[in-house]
Amino acid sequence: MHRKLQERISQFKGASVIKEKGLYPYFRTIESGQDTEVVINGERVLMFGSNSYLGLTNHPKIKEAAKAAIDKYGSGCAGSRFLNGTLDIHIELERKLAAYVGKESAVLFSTGFQVNLGVISCLLDRNDFLILDESDHASIIDGSRLSFSRTIKYKHNDMDDLRKKLSRLPEDAAKLIVTDGIFSMEGDLVNLPHIVKIADEYGANIMLDDAHSLGVIGFNGSGTASHFGLTDKVDLIAGTFSKSLASLGGFIAGTAETIEYVKHRARSLIFSASMPPSAVASVIAALNIIESEPERIDRLWKNTNYAKKLFLAAGFEIGPTDSPIIPVYIRDNDKTFHVTNILSKKGIFVNPIVSPAVNPESSLLRFSLMATHTYPEIEEAIEKIKAAFIEARVNILVNTD
Ligand code: PMP
Repeated sequence: MHRKLQERISQFKGASVIKEKGLYPYFRTIESGQDTEVVINGERVLMFGSNSYLGLTNHPKIKEAAKAAIDKYGSGCAGSRFLNGTLDIHIELERKLAAYVGKESAVLFSTGFQVNLGVISCLLDRNDFLILDESDHASIIDGSRLSFSRTIKYKHNDMDDLRKKLSRLPEDAAKLIVTDGIFSMEGDLVNLPHIVKIADEYGANIMLDDAHSLGVIGFNGSGTASHFGLTDKVDLIAGTFSKSLASLGGFIAGTAETIEYVKHRARSLIFSASMPPSAVASVIAALNIIESEPERIDRLWKNTNYAKKLFLAAGFEIGPTDSPIIPVYIRDNDKTFHVTNILSKKGIFVNPIVSPAVNPESSLLRFSLMATHTYPEIEEAIEKIKAAFIEARVNILVNTD
């Protein structure tokens, strides 16, 4: 290894410092399926750190569909969609998704991350402007790094700042606003009606990343644009299958012409192998279940509202979330690791979110609900979080009775 590379590697102390303290919370190994209860080190752990919002990853119909697809098509496609990797079920899923989110056409990518890399970089060119919310997902930021356009960030969900930034740009330049629908770390919802209004005024286009909104908000869980009744005002809708849709992969939806362009220009699509048959069949089955069991979304929201009520009653500081992602603030990196570790030992899995993902003074536990959680599971978790806050001396907790 070159000396400079070796130095960079050896100087990386981030992980080892937390490991030495015995607080390392990443790459925890799960020995069971991803459900409300998982097994870690042979012990039962309650899962409140999953993105499987509808709790579908172990649904018998989805597992059957995945197995049947393996029987029919084998385990992989051994090539990109562009060449030998397009199956009839890829096309079936694309049609289903376009109809679901209310767009003319859609194309699948092998992950949601690749959607943002490929779409942003192929759509924008040198004299164009990409306008991002500062809390946008890492894949959008990396898409901006691959694009030759200029990137401008506005303060999180701050519409005055968005207007200010847009007003400074050349009138005739192409401008694309890309924003999460539900923000992945703090669970709040984009102010889409305002963005649409400002975008109209300044001739900007809009791309929504609906990773955390699909299966959660909008008609039948069809996402943020549907939630606001603004589907026609959003040019592109991106989504992932790694959350509510119980699989792996992603898609972009828009006009047929735009999707045709993306299919021939997005490098993360053309030069990467297509979604495996089992993953495609799982998503088709998940969409069918969402349609035939709409009560799942109701259950997710009942659980979310119940958890929020308990957190607030117990005096926790939670953010203005509009989703099953509940940010429980600790506002100190070390204490966030400490609380996560105590909770792990008490059999509760939550994710610590610390800097640089958020500012150190915003560090938090990301507590996320699933439709399949029970009220007693939610009660147990919140009781244990309360005990962990007291043990770690987090003084944010107001109500300790
Ligand atoms: N966009 C957002 C907002 C996300 O939260 C994520 C996943 N964390 C992605 C894109 C990437 O999706 P995938 O897991 O399919 O790569």
